[in-house]
Amino acid sequence: MGDSKKVVVVGIPGVGKTTVVTKLEEMLKAAKIRTEQVVFGTVMFEEAQKMGVKSRDDMRKLDVKTQKKLQINAASAIAKKSAPIVLIDTHLFISTKEGYMPGLPNDILKALSPTNLVLIEASPHDIISRRQNDPTRARDVARQEVIERELLIAKAMLSASAVVAGAAIKMVTNADGKADECARELFEALK
Ligand code: ATP
Ligand code: MG
Repeated sequence: MGDSKKVVVVGIPGVGKTTVVTKLEEMLKAAKIRTEQVVFGTVMFEEAQKMGVKSRDDMRKLDVKTQKKLQINAASAIAKKSAPIVLIDTHLFISTKEGYMPGLPNDILKALSPTNLVLIEASPHDIISRRQNDPTRARDVARQEVIERELLIAKAMLSASAVVAGAAIKMVTNADGKADECARELFEALK
């Protein structure tokens, strides 16, 4: 796993992580670079289902201790992947009733040891409309001020994660209708 890049891709819900990572994976594969894509939340949900949780969006309602256990189980499963590029689609923080809980606390970062941290951003206006118009998910609706605060917290969490992991930070904008361009920029940075 010496030359393997572990790329953690983060950004607030609805910014377009899964969309961009899926396109990036296609570009890397077309360039014959063996790539594995992992959605951290999906691996967490697989662990949660073992505890009887029915819906992916119900995971946020679990208590902090249970969410923590699920994160550690998911990180251990992902740490076993060994492709030259592993793309890990995840969240920097989760809003719980007790406050913002880091998605990448120290123990999770240690388990994953990412080489790269990618933050995907978009304008609050675009994020709101993406959350409202996504037919595939039961998303929370948020006001502009809430989104702006989430974007700030994302950057703060990103800096803290980079220092702990010793990983490079790359920030990219996923502008409306331009997910391909966003993926292309990441492809050029990571290939
Ligand atoms: P989550 O954190 O909840 O998993 P996400 O960051 O992975 O969200 P996506 O599911 O990729 O976000 O995208 C959310 C919605 O926004 C989807 O309906 C997707 O099609 C749309 N979307 C993503 N990128 C763009 C873009 N550049 N232009 C327009 N719509 C987009
Ligand atoms: Mg997603």
